[in-house]
Amino acid sequence: MDNCLFCKIVRGEIPSKKAYEDEDLLAFHDIHPQRPVHILVIPKRHITSLTDATPADVPVLGKMLQVAQQLAVDNGSPNGFRTIINTGPIGQQEVMHLHMHIVGGPEPVGPML
Ligand code: ADP
Repeated sequence: MDNCLFCKIVRGEIPSKKAYEDEDLLAFHDIHPQRPVHILVIPKRHITSLTDATPADVPVLGKMLQVAQQLAVDNGSPNGFRTIINTGPIGQQEVMHLHMHIVGGPEPVGPML
């Protein structure tokens, strides 16, 4: 996706502060952190939103959840975290490349509503 912000981050055309990368996923720190820990996990392959995910995407969606725990621990949220996926206009999704927010910190964090 030529003009997708997060695809540009995947390609290295826009800088990001990477927290994790493998062949399927990229995780990077949110540019406007809402909590002491605020990381975004994205599939490298463009999926617009959960609305557009197909059965073929199930492995990568599962992997997004699986990496969350270690990312939280490694980045200062050792005792748990919140995961948030905003979907479409009702979910107030701003960047139309599927992403999961991981938010947390050393102290309990409130919901991001
Ligand atoms: P919302 O902004 O309502 O949380 P999204 O769920 O679409 O909507 O979240 C998009 C997230 O992407 C925001 O938290 C925003 O700060 C973050 N973001 C936007 N541009 C960048 C960027 N270049 N690098 C890192 N994070 C970014």
